[in-house]
Amino acid sequence: MSDIIHRLPESVANQIAAGEVIQRPASALKELLENAVDAGASDIRVIIKDAGKTLIQVTDNGCGMTESDAMNCFERHATSKIRESRDLFAIRTLGFRGEALASIAAIAQVELKTRLTGEEMGTCVNIEGSKIIRQAPCQCSEGTSIAVKNLFFNVPARRNFLKSNTAEIRHLMDEFQRVALVNPQIAMHLFHNNKPLFQLSPANRKERIIAILGSQYKERLLPVEQVTQEVSIQGYIGKPEFAKKTRGDQFFFTNGRFIRHPYLHHAVESAMSDVLPRDTFPTYFLYIDIDPSMIDVNIHPTKTEVNFQDNQLIYAVLRSAVKQTLGKFSITPTLDFEVEQSFDIGKTREGQPIVNPFERKPSDYNPFSTPSHSSASHTGRTDSRGWEKIYEGIRSFPEDTAPKELSGSQEEEEEANTDSESQRFIAQFRGRYIVTHVKSGLVLINQQKAHQRVLYEKFLKRLEGNSEASQQELFPQNVSFNSNDSELIQELTPYLRKAGFNINQLGRNTFIINGTPSGSEKQDMQSILEGILETYKNNMNDPGLDQRMNLARAMAMRLSMKPGKFLEKQEMENLINELFSCNVTGIAPDGEKILVLLSMSDLEKMFK
Ligand code: ADP
Ligand code: MG
Repeated sequence: MSDIIHRLPESVANQIAAGEVIQRPASALKELLENAVDAGASDIRVIIKDAGKTLIQVTDNGCGMTESDAMNCFERHATSKIRESRDLFAIRTLGFRGEALASIAAIAQVELKTRLTGEEMGTCVNIEGSKIIRQAPCQCSEGTSIAVKNLFFNVPARRNFLKSNTAEIRHLMDEFQRVALVNPQIAMHLFHNNKPLFQLSPANRKERIIAILGSQYKERLLPVEQVTQEVSIQGYIGKPEFAKKTRGDQFFFTNGRFIRHPYLHHAVESAMSDVLPRDTFPTYFLYIDIDPSMIDVNIHPTKTEVNFQDNQLIYAVLRSAVKQTLGKFSITPTLDFEVEQSFDIGKTREGQPIVNPFERKPSDYNPFSTPSHSSASHTGRTDSRGWEKIYEGIRSFPEDTAPKELSGSQEEEEEANTDSESQRFIAQFRGRYIVTHVKSGLVLINQQKAHQRVLYEKFLKRLEGNSEASQQELFPQNVSFNSNDSELIQELTPYLRKAGFNINQLGRNTFIINGTPSGSEKQDMQSILEGILETYKNNMNDPGLDQRMNLARAMAMRLSMKPGKFLEKQEMENLINELFSCNVTGIAPDGEKILVLLSMSDLEKMFK
């Protein structure tokens, strides 16, 4: 039998290698950006067409290449960054494997123009599927420009595997942001289909974070700094009260490189665990600088994972750095609504003892009457103390807000009517629940959940219709977002308007709000809209929820009243009436229960 093993042609080998390094347009962008940074550029421009499927072009003003380097850079394992194996432990550049350009050239049509600093003429190279098509001297500016066209043109499986343009553009923006966050001194621009998405001038770290994530971050960052002999940790954490329910704004950079590191993430999370609201993720931008001999960056083809020689040491330093920051800025645990609070107890009339509204007295029972008319005194103070404790926080209504016909009517009639509509007993408990009755028994209504249901159905209707929604005026508020979120806000603007937001774009990433949907709570619009986007994005992939439902739900969740809100009797009645005219009355849009019914028989059983 003859030999069957043979060496793969270079182009096939490159294509295989490309599978590891270049998974999508964003991976090509990352490699090109890193090369530009390594070339010492102070200005980098990116032009993208069709989410990178047609064109990714990166132009830098870095050192440029000689004529022969311009050909050789597409060879596999061709690099100017290391020479021998011991260099692997002293890496100060982003690249060193010499496989990015070879991989990209294997699966795309590439045009390279480069001119060495100080040279008269530049070189232009065209390469396609690893084959050099053309090479010629050319006029071009100092530095390098690489245009990657028709990525995966010869790998249809990969090309078909690409996600929607929206998804791919998000990946591209993420990669761009990571490089931009760790290189604030470099001016960086990104255009997509001729639209500028980022225009970043040279800045310091904090300014760059704010330029990328939005001016709202100005007030939200706390500096972190810890420099020891082994490692320097610097950067910012987000104030815990602005922590988000979605992952996203978490960045570790080591020696100029964005990395993922679950173990170090845990260090930050555990340092902040006492102060982060439940189910939220910390925001952080942390720059870890360390002697390159103390890390191994060669454990992953895209180099987003690194091994620290002493993981535990870094963990400890990082954790203590974050703790120190929290201490320095006196960040203490947030209040939890489960904890005993006295918001509405304070609202009872001064000197008015708490009435037990469940205490049924034969004839003179009137839930709305003042204590002097009530029967509480008949039962004897000492015996009733325990009772009062149990019902502490149930707010009874002072006489002047009670329906007129209730005060001092005939005893017998009252006895018979205790449960009738005209005498509906309504009370608010701890600013969270409404206690009332229906024919069959006693109901406890979670006021926030009820409000969410009411708003949800209202918003759904408005989003279906075409009419202008009613609004409540608002003192105009400016809001700003990062580029990703601004895109989304623009996409959603027609719907937000239908729902009742008077929203207009001011600048690329800023909007002005002049009105909010009627019936919603007036609050800080920045955090409201951020919250809506967050909830919306979280559920974007929920197949059971179309865009309209998702948005209605996100708005309902974020615009509803918060626990602890004091409600007048009329407000409670309105809320109950609105709830009972909803299509669904028992379940909030997030699936949680709105009300609990205790039937008469349940109640009676409880006392057996
Ligand atoms: P690596 O970055 O790992 O060395 P690449 O395939 O990305 O491998 O690049 C190969 C070589 O091409 C680099 O080592 C560098 O010398 C040169 N090069 C690539 N891009 C640029 C650029 N934008 N400016 C100057 N030189 C570049
Ligand atoms: Mg490289």
